[in-house]
Amino acid sequence: MKTYTEIDLIIKPEFVQKYRDGYPLISKDSISDLNRIKEEGVILNFLDTKGRFVAKGYHGIQNKGFGWILSSDKNEQIDKNYFAKKIKIALTCRDDFFSSKHTTAFRVFNGEGDGVGGISIDYFDGYYMLTWYSKGIYEFKDDILEALKQQVKYKGIYEKKRFDTKGMYLDNENDFVCGERADAPIVVKENSVNFAIYLDDGAMVGVFLDQRDVRKAIRDKYSKDKTMLNTFSYTGAFSVFASLGGATKTTSVDLAKRSRPKTNEQFSINKIDPKTQDIIVEDVFNYFKYAVRKKLKFELVVLDPPSFARSKKHTFSASKDYVKLLKEAIEITSKYGVIVASTNSANFSMKTFRAYIEKAFKELNGKFEVKESHTLPKDFRINPKFKEGNYLKVVFIKKL
Ligand code: SAH
Repeated sequence: MKTYTEIDLIIKPEFVQKYRDGYPLISKDSISDLNRIKEEGVILNFLDTKGRFVAKGYHGIQNKGFGWILSSDKNEQIDKNYFAKKIKIALTCRDDFFSSKHTTAFRVFNGEGDGVGGISIDYFDGYYMLTWYSKGIYEFKDDILEALKQQVKYKGIYEKKRFDTKGMYLDNENDFVCGERADAPIVVKENSVNFAIYLDDGAMVGVFLDQRDVRKAIRDKYSKDKTMLNTFSYTGAFSVFASLGGATKTTSVDLAKRSRPKTNEQFSINKIDPKTQDIIVEDVFNYFKYAVRKKLKFELVVLDPPSFARSKKHTFSASKDYVKLLKEAIEITSKYGVIVASTNSANFSMKTFRAYIEKAFKELNGKFEVKESHTLPKDFRINPKFKEGNYLKVVFIKKL
């Protein structure tokens, strides 16, 4: 059995209780003798100033921190068996998903929510996608891969490396790991809707699995006979669901040129003629100006911006600019129309997000009613000691 280098480190007194209580994210500030850590992937045994065991973790640099706690048991070895145990529990938690005929894409392992921060594993109809968020966690690749392969039937396994401290994707020549290669695309199902998934085509595969419940709500409760505007639409997943839910027409707006063929494809594989829908490649903020000039109104508007984006003319940061974005959206939403406001920014809480919504309506002297809200779905397991891991916030707002 492969073993990893371990070093004993003293934790500053003010952090000891936090780690004893199960907080999983290691901060640089909490470690006294930092210069003893030479490389990522080493096991850190944390001791208090009296030399008593506190917890053990590994060193891996991510935007979020310096590594993750793996165990509060002094005698627990970090090895293949350790990872196998964590994966086993994670698989059991997704039993319902594995047995579903209507949904064949979901998250199998959600980092610290499943006990090991810095890695996620997604399932796409027999294929597994491992995403590594630091060089540190990647040091455990052989063991994690073996532990997974022993416990699941798979067609093939792929990986994405997001080692950069900003979580950026590292463009591999090849994201294929083992098994059989997937078609490009493979078609998976989500609540009986088709998605084209490209496992080896850059950073993103074609769909964000964390919005599953939101897409379902849009289709089942908010689309019938409505005109829909989908901003920051990417592959148009929300538009496809709205259309299948009976929307009279959808308009998808995204700056990226690839969004047009990708959205065409998502419509086509769901037997919707893309020509009956509007797919617009443009800066959302320009589109808002155009819509105001043309006096366009929509009955359902989806806002799903990235937490940070820079285009030629605009820089958008969710924490600074969401109020402005909402105000633009409110202007072109019809009375009693619904705005689906979404953000994946981990920098602010649901409470703050609700305050942004209040502020936007207040500044326009408008009234609204919250119909429902969502955070991460069940397969994106959350560590109760690390609530900030639940980054997704979605609010369905009815304009009154
Ligand atoms: N709502 C999508 C995911 C959005 S990802 C879904 O459910 O699948 C964010 C998208 O925003 C990217 O496709 C990116 O191209 C787009 N984007 C970023 N800045 C933009 C801008 N100013 N105008 C339009 N699109 C933008």
